[in-house]
Amino acid sequence: MLPEPQLDELYRELILDHYKSPRNHRRLARADVVAEGYNPACGDEVELDLAFDGATIEDIGLVSRGCSISKASGSMMTELVKGKDAGQIRRLAAEFNKMMTDPEGEPPEALGDLEALQGVAKFAVRVKCATLPWHTLEDGLAQHENGGGAVKREEI
Ligand code: ZN
Repeated sequence: MLPEPQLDELYRELILDHYKSPRNHRRLARADVVAEGYNPACGDEVELDLAFDGATIEDIGLVSRGCSISKASGSMMTELVKGKDAGQIRRLAAEFNKMMTDPEGEPPEALGDLEALQGVAKFAVRVKCATLPWHTLEDGLAQHENGGGAVKREEI
């Protein structure tokens, strides 16, 4: 695991809270889609279960192993996307990816707690920790739209 980057104190607390008590950290009894992600640069792993109602994520479970950044990002993501549809989620994912390339920009309000991760954008190697759950979620959405087939993502 890579060492913890130096982040703003206020944001650090929030990240540690999600790291210690990750939200929706469970497997779903009934998942329509299962997607997995791996970030070899740090050793982060995520297993994502999604239950859909049409294009809307009705329930989400994310079991993760890895550093504080990847776990916190995944935990915050599950809270944000539950109950939203694929179009809304793709817009949020695009905003998040954009924020992770721009440490100085104004963080989008729609991202809520995830703005705590903006400081990670200054540490290029850690951006993949933060984006791993999101890329895995995008794989899960694509899988759902394409009618199944397990996908395992490796961040490269
Ligand atoms: Zn990591």
